Amino acid sequence: ATMPPLLSAIANAGRHGVLVKSAVVMERLGQVDAVALDKTGTLTEGSPRVTDVRPLPGSGLGERELLTLAAAAERPSEHPLARAVVDAARERGLELPDAHDFTSAPGVGVTAVVGGRTVEVGAPARLADDAVAAVAELEESGRTAVLVVVDGTPAGLLGIADRLRPDAAATVASLARLTGTAPVLLTGDNPRAAAHLATEAGIDDVRAGLLPQDKLAAVREMESAGRKVLVVGDGVNDAPALAAAHTGIAMGRAGSDLALETADAVIVRDELAAVPATVALSRRARRLVV
Ligand code: ADP
Ligand code: MG
Repeated sequence: ATMPPLLSAIANAGRHGVLVKSAVVMERLGQVDAVALDKTGTLTEGSPRVTDVRPLPGSGLGERELLTLAAAAERPSEHPLARAVVDAARERGLELPDAHDFTSAPGVGVTAVVGGRTVEVGAPARLADDAVAAVAELEESGRTAVLVVVDGTPAGLLGIADRLRPDAAATVASLARLTGTAPVLLTGDNPRAAAHLATEAGIDDVRAGLLPQDKLAAVREMESAGRKVLVVGDGVNDAPALAAAHTGIAMGRAGSDLALETADAVIVRDELAAVPATVALSRRARRLVV
């Protein structure tokens, strides 16, 4: 027997490295008319690297000590920024002490007790009100500034840089063409770093500084304006938006388990260009079904 068009499309999507979870999803993919993309790990490679380690004057910490505390606290986290911090410590041969009482807040950062000291690592604006000039300087250059707070006092900054995926700009352009609408960027990162990256990717509509529930609200707002939104994300912070969207696709290679479970489809190979390819496959299959 010949395979029904939607099932052949699922098989074809598989060849493009996309795992589509059902025929219903395969059909819905072709209906989307708006796209919301996450930044870190989705538009970017998600393998960010620590470029700057800056203890704050008065913290009494050296660079190695600051990085050791931050990496020890970040070790249990699966966030791409956390991996960058741990890798930077390993590359410098630093011994990481055990961390206790680890907690993480999606879109904010992590907290843990390291050697009797409470260490928080995360978004500067959410951890301390006093905007440090160094934060602005790091962010202007497209870096993500991460603040390290020790026992309630800001102790230092880490500058972290991530690269745009090579197929990001082409993917944004294809999605705009396919849906007739310019894709929007939804990110938890700071507005300056987000704007820098969005320009490179060809995105004008940027919403930055979003918590997971803000990403969800942005998608709900688009949907209640009558759009069928395709959300592409990779993080725990994207899960609510992936669940609420008309269709959700997760980046699989470095994606969090929660995102992979929540999404309707998973990009198994690490190519963003598979997203428009799969939408196009769905469109073709739907023409054969009707
Ligand atoms: P995006 O939406 O671009 O994927 P996230 O919502 O995951 O970004 O993160 C938003 C911001 O929250 C980061 O830019 C960072 O400042 C902070 N953050 C979240 N998790 C961590 C972590 N584990 N370590 C350091 N900073 C973090
Ligand atoms: Mg992300």
